[in-house]
Amino acid sequence: MTGKPIRRVVIAGAGQGGVHAASSLRRLGYTGELTLVSAESCPPYQRPPLSKAFLLDADPALVELHDPAHYESIGATLVLGDPVTGVDLASREISSASGTTTPYDHLVLATGSRPRSISELRGLRNVFHLHDRSDSTALGGRLRDARSMLLIGGGFIGLEIATAAIDLGCQVTVVERMPSILEHAVPPQVADFLLRKHRERGVEFYLGRSVVTWTAEDDRLESITTEDGTRISADLVVVGIGSAPSTELAEQAGLVVDGGVVVDSRLRTSDPHVSGIGDCARFPLDGRVERLTSVQHAMDSALHVAKQIVGQDAPYRPVPWFWTDQAGVKVQMAGVPRAEYDRTEVTTGPADGLFAIRCFRGDRFVGGTTVAMPAEHVKMRRELAAELAPSR
Ligand SMILES: Cc1cc2nc3c(=O)[nH]c(=O)nc-3n(C[C@H](O)[C@H](O)[C@H](O)COP(=O)(O)OP(=O)(O)OC[C@H]3O[C@@H](n4cnc5c(N)ncnc54)[C@H](O)[C@@H]3O)c2cc1C
Repeated sequence: MTGKPIRRVVIAGAGQGGVHAASSLRRLGYTGELTLVSAESCPPYQRPPLSKAFLLDADPALVELHDPAHYESIGATLVLGDPVTGVDLASREISSASGTTTPYDHLVLATGSRPRSISELRGLRNVFHLHDRSDSTALGGRLRDARSMLLIGGGFIGLEIATAAIDLGCQVTVVERMPSILEHAVPPQVADFLLRKHRERGVEFYLGRSVVTWTAEDDRLESITTEDGTRISADLVVVGIGSAPSTELAEQAGLVVDGGVVVDSRLRTSDPHVSGIGDCARFPLDGRVERLTSVQHAMDSALHVAKQIVGQDAPYRPVPWFWTDQAGVKVQMAGVPRAEYDRTEVTTGPADGLFAIRCFRGDRFVGGTTVAMPAEHVKMRRELAAELAPSR
């Protein structure tokens, strides 16, 4: 970054990206002040286990990002339970809910995302979303007593919850408005394979159907009805219909926001003293503008901004990757999600149920998905990195 040396960095949001930005800054030799402000009161944690192992065993060690001593050891001031409520771009300071103001030379917005909800179902006692640690603890507790769970939405997080619910002896029904699960997220062969695996475990699917009406009594959702008249009741209902970026702070500050905090190829927002990383940001990638919601992007974008702050300038050109664990299978994806392709190549592994799919647009390898073939996934990431190398 050009201009005066940066001596005060403030990071709004202490999740996967915010914490990695702080740690990376110190590793890269940044010696100035470092403040990490979290809206949440618990120590920073990672989200992937929340829909997997943590649902079965709410052990804080499963999600903790670092030992609490880490923040002191990197000389970061970690402020918990005090959301940033305002950013003054002119005077370069943030204000927090407690009334504290903190000046910055550079501000990193790492505010993440929040789950989309169905407004009519909000506030009903047996309707759950899964985004933060307390959601997972509450849902995990309820799943132990529930006999049946209805999942609205057949995406990654929902299907991971379905996996845990079956493990806990619950009957699971999924209603998905698209004709397949994980539509546009994985190649159809992988979606079909996972659908079969979930069905073998007893999950019932209603695909290509939307929820159109519902009945509630005593603040509990009793049943939903799909457009073809199918009526489904369950003890618990989980809404898993995706996430929306947390952009309120950026909007309040007057930064450009359009489906996410808009950042350039250096991850700078419309104000050069403010960067955006992780789930909240929308950035240029492979000729499109993308918002990625993955651990990979949170970590890579955090490291990238840290490098920018210490003066290592380069465009952000990540190789996106993602994983999901569901129905007893690890599926890994590499490449820009939803990249267009016109040809696939399938490689089968040494045992049943192991396969990899490579997607090509013309001659160009644009991404691939592996089922229980982690070495092949790593190979794909290397090939995609070579595609992105500046010499090409
Ligand atoms: C249940 C679940 C399972 C997932 N599983 C996977 C997986 O298997 N693989 C994968 O790659 N990705 C997975 N993800 C996605 C991954 O966890 C996210 O992409 C990643 O956490 C994004 O990092 P982030 O730093 O942008 O946001 P987060 O980690 O969400 O952190 C943002 C933080 O900012 C805080 N915040 C918001 N507003 C303010 C404010 N005004 N002031 C202060 N703090 C604020 C929030 O409270 C939050 O703590 C999963 C996500 C969820 C919810």
